[in-house]
Amino acid sequence: MADKFVYLFGGGKADGNEKMKNLLGGKGANLAEMCRLGIPVPAGFTVTTECCTAYFANNSKLPASLNGQVLAALAKTESIMGMKYGNPDNPLLVSCRSGARKSMPGMMDTVLNVGLSTATIPGMIKKTNNPRFVWDSYRRLIMMYADVVMEKAEGMEPVGGKGIRKIMDDTLDQFKHSRGAKSDTDLKADDLKLLSEEFKKLVLKHLGKAFPDDPMAQLWGGIAAVFKSWNGKKAVSYRRIEGIPDAWGTAVNVQAMVFGNMGDSSATGVAFTRDPATGDNKFYGEWLVNAQGEDVVAGIRTPSPINDSTKNEQNKHLHSMQEAMPATYKALDAIRNKLEKHFTDMLDIEFTIQEGKLWMLQCRVGKRTGTAALNMAMDMLDEKLIDQKTAVQRLNPKQLDELLHPIIDPKAEKDASPIVKGLPAGPGAASGALVFTAEAAVASAKAGTKCILIREETNPEDVEGMRAAVGILTARGGMTSHAALVARGWGKCCIVGAGGMHVDAASQTAKIAGTDVVLKAGDVVTLNGTKVHVYKGSMPMVSATENPRFQKFMTMADKFRTMGVRTNAETPQDAKVARGFGAEGIGLFRFEHMFYGEGSDRPLFLLRRMIVSKTEAERRKALEEMFPFMKDDVKKTLDVMDGLPVTFRFLDPPLHEFVPNRADERQRLATDLGISIDEFNKRADALHESNPMMGHRGVRLGVSYPEMTETQTQAILEAAAELIQAGKNAKPEIMIPVTSTSAEIVDQKKIIDRVYEKVLAKFNLSKSKLVLVVGTMIEIPRACITADKFAGVCEFFSFGTNDLTQMGFGFSRDDIGSFLPHYMDRKILAADPFQTIDQEGIGELIKMGINKGRSVKPNLKIGICGEHGGEPESVKFCYKVGMSYVSCSPYRVPLARLAAAQAAIAAEAEPKAAKPTPAPKKAAAKPAARPVTKKPAAKKVAKKVAKKAVKKVTKKPAKKAAKKAAAKRPAAKKTAKKGKKR
Ligand code: ADP
Ligand code: MG
Ligand code: MG
Repeated sequence: MADKFVYLFGGGKADGNEKMKNLLGGKGANLAEMCRLGIPVPAGFTVTTECCTAYFANNSKLPASLNGQVLAALAKTESIMGMKYGNPDNPLLVSCRSGARKSMPGMMDTVLNVGLSTATIPGMIKKTNNPRFVWDSYRRLIMMYADVVMEKAEGMEPVGGKGIRKIMDDTLDQFKHSRGAKSDTDLKADDLKLLSEEFKKLVLKHLGKAFPDDPMAQLWGGIAAVFKSWNGKKAVSYRRIEGIPDAWGTAVNVQAMVFGNMGDSSATGVAFTRDPATGDNKFYGEWLVNAQGEDVVAGIRTPSPINDSTKNEQNKHLHSMQEAMPATYKALDAIRNKLEKHFTDMLDIEFTIQEGKLWMLQCRVGKRTGTAALNMAMDMLDEKLIDQKTAVQRLNPKQLDELLHPIIDPKAEKDASPIVKGLPAGPGAASGALVFTAEAAVASAKAGTKCILIREETNPEDVEGMRAAVGILTARGGMTSHAALVARGWGKCCIVGAGGMHVDAASQTAKIAGTDVVLKAGDVVTLNGTKVHVYKGSMPMVSATENPRFQKFMTMADKFRTMGVRTNAETPQDAKVARGFGAEGIGLFRFEHMFYGEGSDRPLFLLRRMIVSKTEAERRKALEEMFPFMKDDVKKTLDVMDGLPVTFRFLDPPLHEFVPNRADERQRLATDLGISIDEFNKRADALHESNPMMGHRGVRLGVSYPEMTETQTQAILEAAAELIQAGKNAKPEIMIPVTSTSAEIVDQKKIIDRVYEKVLAKFNLSKSKLVLVVGTMIEIPRACITADKFAGVCEFFSFGTNDLTQMGFGFSRDDIGSFLPHYMDRKILAADPFQTIDQEGIGELIKMGINKGRSVKPNLKIGICGEHGGEPESVKFCYKVGMSYVSCSPYRVPLARLAAAQAAIAAEAEPKAAKPTPAPKKAAAKPAARPVTKKPAAKKVAKKVAKKAVKKVTKKPAKKAAKKAAAKRPAAKKTAKKGKKR
């Protein structure tokens, strides 16, 4: 029924149901479902999202058939509610509520009390015998309607930036002040009547149009305004961030009003069926007596807790609903149980009590922290509310990051007593020195000192400092305060509303009430964001990997996972961390690592000597001296990864960047080589390349200098052989980078095989004892196109998607800073292809590579390395195209495991999703090769080298400019790095 635009709900029945979110929006679908469940919901109807798209397609005109459908639905609503819209004696009022497929909290608009007019006000007063309530409702209607329908929906730019809503709010404040009223509930009927008259004048003056007095005009204005709000500024930018398509449109719910502002037996509230911060199975919510709509979240009055068990420091003196209206609370609690059973998830609900009668106005799946998501999933599994597959789907992989936060060692915490308590806003634990300003937090982070930002309350200006701090502590503010929202978004440890504390930013002190504790700047404190305790001093932390629930959850996820997860690591420490996180091997070990960081002086010197060597003899000498360092590095890592495969990628350094610029260092090298400084400089200059990214790198070095391939192979194999002889299970794999033709592999394999034979003989090992696997990194489009040829000579592929993206797009990774932001701003690209795989283009290259490769070797092991391997969307893509494993930085391993498990479960649910011949699970679980993207390596090395004040040989100013631009490139990159190593 393409032209059914209106769906009725009410009186225990509904045209729609919870499955119809696309058509009715989340709110409409769930209102319908609640009706079907027999839950009290004020009757009404939903105008569909299809109507919204038709409206926009038709030049912002409502479809002709809508009028009749709305009138018919309104008539039914009237009969269910026993009132009539626009009727002077028994008027029905309605709300016009927005509701998209996916909830967009606060982004679109809702108008309440629609239908109040000079004609219906007297009848309403007579009916309710409550003039104060009627005038209060009327002034609210004018405020909302003027703001939403007359100003925003019409796209009017507020004069001087001050919108009609603000003008009215100010007028209301002045009014309250002049009447000596503390809160709006102190205003009398006559005050509110006067105020309404004042508001109408303001509307006419500022918007140039009279507030409509005809209920029908109000209704149609409201419906159209909700549609228009879909294209409001806020809503559009929210959709950009959340990736919600513009084409979806919103539905409008027209619903009979019920009133929480009819006196002391009326109220309104919002609640979560479980605690959204901790996941505790406790009904958690806030309510306000004699209030309407969003008063609870608007912060006009401090809301009260709905029950006694969730009272906190700030609101413990207020009456809970459980105390004040025990019967209604019981009814609400019963609805909570019914809803959870039905929806099998934690829900966020909105309700209103009109003169003791409870009405449900909304329910939807509630947002939660990572900790809460984990706890709820495991609890609901125990309660048999959900099955394992569902539980695994309940945690967003991105939320794992937050769960990997360390927690205070429970043993140490058992005996510690907190100095103050607050409300849970961000999870995990943090320990650091107190700072009282955002600037101090930034400075402290720069200096490398962990700090906790302590504030009376945070505001948007503090954001930089909040980011810099490891934890945030505020004396005021609730679960919906600025600090709480920001911290929850970042998964940062944060305690708000620690009311027992008085923070004085001026004197940089915080007094703990009722004690003589005074905290000063620099004092170390420890926060437990989950228990919401603040302790003096620092406390020992344990990593999340020791959290038994997290372990159990991940083990469960692994049961469904078919794709392997490896890590990119080149030190024994990193390898250990990754193994702890469940890595099933190393997909990328970069030799470059040994040239920076601690103990790198000698290897770096030797590398430089090798680079500026002219003859094979010179080069061999340098390589010979490098050999023990290489072998040692390899051996330690293979040892940690005992029993698991480790992919060693041959050196891929940007040669010229390794040549020192400092005269003394050049001299040292010249002396060492026994050549003059002039000769040295000549050689250094000769290394300069116009386009080093496509220059003498990767396999090309091995082709030019076979001795490089030889030495590296020997280091890898001898290290493995020694371990094997010591009874270990070393599984080395060799990966050749930057290949463009399979002939390169053939060439290199001759060298590798020669060394292999030699090592076998030297250690008296058989080929089945010391197994050698050789593969390539696929990172040049030509390699994808000729992947069938490569498959003939390789035992595995590993997609180096950083370079593949670079070469595929023709975007130099070092230079994107100057243009990629424009691409993003103008939406030429939806996402940075270096962060999320570009499925449309680069993804096709990958698919081609996989299909061609497997057409020759059906069980060819195929993986990916680099940043993409730890990004949930890309991991899901890798699963879909049938990769055997992904490889990512150690801290991303759990995230990749979860994303891979979810992808497998999702594919099972829709059997049609073509699964391209994935490698057998066994191969996946203990996969082998996997080289990594060369670029990060090069970059890291380059940076370190630069740090050591090594002068770069390159003289191209263009290059410098590019570097600068890249350095300026903001957050994106930084975030990626952060995610990588925390
Ligand atoms: P949002 O989805 O942006 O929160 P809503 O449509 O839920 O907007 O409206 C905001 C609030 O207005 C609701 O939480 C509810 O308290 C109030 N409200 C909406 N419709 C009605 C109604 N028919 N009767 C009483 N209150 C309503
Ligand atoms: Mg809202
Ligand atoms: Mg709502």
